[in-house]
Amino acid sequence: MPGGAIMERWTLRLSALVLALVMTGPAQAAEPDLSTMSAGARVAFTKAMPKGGELHNHISGGIFAETLLGWAVEDGLCVDVSTLALARPPCEGQNLRPVAEAMADEVLYSDILDSLSTRQPGFLDRSGHDQFFGVFGRIGAVGPARGGDRLATVMEDLAHQNTFYLEAMVTPQGAASAALGLKVGLKSDLSQMKAEIEAAGLAAVVDAAIAQTDVMEARAREVLACDTPNPRPGCQVTVRYLVQTTRIIPPEATFAQLQLGVALVQADRRWVGLQMVAPEDHPTALGNYRLHMEMVGFLTKQGHLAPAALHAGELTFDYAPPEHLRDHISQAVRIAGARRIGHGVALPHETDAEVLAAEMAQAGILIEVNLSSNEVILKFTPEDHPFAWFLERGIPVSLSTDDSGLLRIDLSHEYERAVAYGADYADLKRSARNALAFSFLAGEGLWSDPGQYRRPAPACRGQIGASEPRGGCAALVSSSDKAREQWRHEALLANFEAGFRGRSRR
Ligand SMILES: [Zn+2]
Repeated sequence: MPGGAIMERWTLRLSALVLALVMTGPAQAAEPDLSTMSAGARVAFTKAMPKGGELHNHISGGIFAETLLGWAVEDGLCVDVSTLALARPPCEGQNLRPVAEAMADEVLYSDILDSLSTRQPGFLDRSGHDQFFGVFGRIGAVGPARGGDRLATVMEDLAHQNTFYLEAMVTPQGAASAALGLKVGLKSDLSQMKAEIEAAGLAAVVDAAIAQTDVMEARAREVLACDTPNPRPGCQVTVRYLVQTTRIIPPEATFAQLQLGVALVQADRRWVGLQMVAPEDHPTALGNYRLHMEMVGFLTKQGHLAPAALHAGELTFDYAPPEHLRDHISQAVRIAGARRIGHGVALPHETDAEVLAAEMAQAGILIEVNLSSNEVILKFTPEDHPFAWFLERGIPVSLSTDDSGLLRIDLSHEYERAVAYGADYADLKRSARNALAFSFLAGEGLWSDPGQYRRPAPACRGQIGASEPRGGCAALVSSSDKAREQWRHEALLANFEAGFRGRSRR
């Protein structure tokens, strides 16, 4: 046989072998295909899968209506039966009834659940957008005193989904800080405004915010029985907070809230970053958008004093004219110095969108993706949502709920939902790791290549997924909040994957 023919035959055999390995190699064969799973199997799978953490969770919207109503009964609140909103006592007046009494009326009870969630599309002829944002006002009577109860509820729910990190959005001393801004007034010189707010008494508001955090956490630990012999699973969830500021109040008030946020992040390690909330399409938010970005960039020194995750590009033509879809995300990234973007669904509409997408992929600016929220508020479907494009362009993403209680979902649901948007298991696994690698937790991470996860930090090579870290890796894990949470996640992930790999071999 001529040498060339032998070579050719060997090349053919080799390619066949490579092909066989690619098709049926051990890792490939065991990788679950979520798109062909039955719905039940997919739900069970995503529920059990460790999802790392949640980076976009407004705990004010994180509570199901039934739980809120339970607290409302304990607190003696009322329902306004004309607006289907909760109200403070006394329950006097034509339309006010005690919550307990209203709940006894089956039809009224069901209407109240509809009113306090988005479960009934088109309820009272409202759009999903209006129904969603309106709920916050209708549950406002369940006041900040229930902050610890809310926190405990969200922690416990995450723990039951094999997920142990939460970056919760909370508004600390929102009215007190806004009042300082209103007192000082808007100045064209941001340095001067900052100095005057400082002089007006910001330090006392920082102290009050820290005290409020202590109270909230103590209540959450009490609810979860954390300091008893039988702590609830939720006690194992590590919590950090993002300072929510409001974009629909006068800009000097927003500025003071942001200034409080930076001071709080510097004073208290539980507070790790800033956020801006309220509808981005509100006229005040649209009108002041650029000013807000300049304020964040100025106060945080573009993220160097405190990192920011910003809702940006949560817009469609239904809610804003085209000019507002062209540059909100680029301003958040380039002017404010945001390290993460909430929603970002208008990214394809931005001027030079491909350039911006490449810049975000390169700089590792993550998009917090909230699929159900986008479906309800902005009417997105898997066919027109840019999720797959984010992945194609290499922009890091992490799935989150936004407001699980209002939307009546959980984090696992979002992972399950992502399959309809084209995500495979590798995408979900990356989303979970991103939730820790792109968190604002302090310290060095466990990975040299966040977003890729091929190269562990040198000290931890060959150890990822083991039960206990050794040597330099043990030192990293014990000294870094981020590495500690990542280590825990990798151990859970290894255990989870061993489970389905074991099943697939049988
Ligand atoms: Zn949000």
